[in-house]
Amino acid sequence: MVEVSVDIQSAKTVSFDCRACGVCCHEASDGRILVPAEDIVRFRREGRDDIASSLVEGHFSEMAFPARPDGSCVYQGAPTGKNDCSIYPIRGTTCRELEPGSRQCLEFRRYAGLGPSRLKDAGP
Ligand code: SF4
Ligand code: SF4
Repeated sequence: MVEVSVDIQSAKTVSFDCRACGVCCHEASDGRILVPAEDIVRFRREGRDDIASSLVEGHFSEMAFPARPDGSCVYQGAPTGKNDCSIYPIRGTTCRELEPGSRQCLEFRRYAGLGPSRLKDAGP
């Protein structure tokens, strides 16, 4: 579980559990979730040629995770939850670098209708 607590303006403490949220994983259409070359080497080294072979052309001449018709990454959805990542331990660098609670994360969540008022209150 990835859980990060941050203060948002009102000094209220909120938590982000990426494996339950998965909102940014819904934005994979048109090769938007990039996969750098070193990730491809890593997938192959770890015996996951299937992931390396599944990649599609993304922006900036890089490869990207493929998306379903609804825009979600094809690796979203696991026995642990529909929003969880099925390849979480070896997910891409882009996935790891999107920091829970960051401005980009909050924008994704707001766009999905998950504003701060609907976040889990982890405060006392
Ligand atoms: S980075 Fe933010 S939007 Fe993405 S899964 Fe984590 S909490 Fe959700
Ligand atoms: S690989 Fe996993 S973490 Fe990355 S976008 Fe796809 S489902 Fe999300």
